[in-house]
Formats: sequence, structure tokens, C-alpha cells
Amino acid sequence: MVREQLAGIRDPRVLQVMGEVPRHLFVDEALAGRAYGCATLPIGNGQTLSRPYTVARMTEALALTGSEEVLEIGTGSGYQTAVLARLCRRVFTVERLANLADGARQRLRHLGLHNVCYRIADGSLGWPEPRLFDRILVAAGTPVVPDNLTRQLAVGGSLLIPEGNAQSQYLIRLLRQAEDVVCREVLESCRFVPLVGEQGWAVPVKAAPSDLLRRLSGGATPSVTPCH
Ligand code: SAH
Repeated sequence: MVREQLAGIRDPRVLQVMGEVPRHLFVDEALAGRAYGCATLPIGNGQTLSRPYTVARMTEALALTGSEEVLEIGTGSGYQTAVLARLCRRVFTVERLANLADGARQRLRHLGLHNVCYRIADGSLGWPEPRLFDRILVAAGTPVVPDNLTRQLAVGGSLLIPEGNAQSQYLIRLLRQAEDVVCREVLESCRFVPLVGEQGWAVPVKAAPSDLLRRLSGGATPSVTPCH
């Protein structure tokens, strides 16, 4: 996988960890044979595990040295969490869907990764308790960068987030250079599932009422709508 999927990734620590974390344990057994290929894979609840290159690219863009406290929004299967946990001091990870968070927690415990704190919450509002982080990685796309996340970024820290519409986004990196100076870089185009929450996209309308709405209005009902 490292040789075939990660061409262009230079950070040797990222390459080493990507070669060591058993990616097949983070997907359904039926998909294990595709775990090291170039595709994004379903992890349940309509969510996806990013392809290896995207995980490595985002990790590399955080420029971790090993001493950082990292906030991750969107635990999902826990694969990206496991990669981060091997490369920083502590990961604080937030997932809105309890069954995904529970699965991730079990997998990481099984792998002996104990430097991870989990929360089931709306991560668009940041870590639920006041705290500053050296790095923030958001693994879901949002129409605008949530203020709560920028506020939890320590001076000298960076925040990586896909920003755009529900179909495609640009990977944005914010660097907090001083208390009141945040600079913004646009890295590359990307495609992530939506960040669903108060400072992201509205919670999708449940199946039964949306069917009803569609029939009443005679047209299609979008499953995600911007809050902003
Ligand atoms: N990087 C993950 C995949 C992330 S998919 C992996 O390695 O498997 C994006 C995840 O973000 C999904 O699990 C989704 O449920 C979660 N998510 C979406 N909106 C969220 C929110 N507001 N707060 C926390 N998690 C959220």
C-alpha cells in the first residue's frame, strides 16, 4: 500500500505508521480484501473511510513532531485516529454517531493505543470542554470553518478542514500565528462526507418525514442543507 498508494507523501514517520496500522481491521470483514487499495470504503451509517492517500496527506499536512495534543472531528472507524495516535502525544476525538465511536474505541483498545480520549458529541462545536489544541483535523466537509474550532486552536497550531459544498470541497489549513493572527492556506480539492451539526450542515431529515415532504411538495427534498 505504501509503495502503490502513497507516492508523493514524503514524511518518513507518516509512511512508517501508514505501513504499520492494520487498515483491514477498520472495515467490515467482507471489505478486508480492499482495505489497502485506492478506494474510499463504507464504514456504516452512510459514512466512509478515506482512501490511504487522503489519510496520509492530511496527517502529513499537520506536520506532527510527537509532542502535540490533536483534536480530531469525525472519529468514524478510528483508522485516522490510530495513525494520529502513533504520531502525537494525545488524540481527542469526537464522533456524533455512538455506534461508530464505540467500534473505534474497541479497535484502538485492541491495538493497544491508549493515548486517545473519545467523546460522542457535535464536533462542529469543538471539544465539549474548554481546551486548546496544537492541531485540529476535521474529517468531514463544512460550508464554513466553525468559529468554535478556530477558537480551540493554540498559538502556533494548525487546523485542517475540508470547506465547500456538499459535493466537493477544498482542504483548508489555518495557522494561528499569534493570539489574533490566523492565516489561511488552500491546499487542494477533496471530497468528504458532510460535517453534520450546529456549525456545519443541518441534520438530514429522517426518511419518513422527507418522503412525506417530497410527496407534499411534488419535488425532491435535499438530504443536507446549509445552516449558514
Ligand atoms: N477519518 C475517519 C472517517 C471519517 S468519515 C476514519 O478513519 O474512518 C466522517 C465522520 O465524521 C463520520 O463518522 C461522521 O459520522 C462524522 N461526523 C459528521 N459530522 C460530525 C459532527 N458534527 N461531529 C462529530 N462527528 C461528525
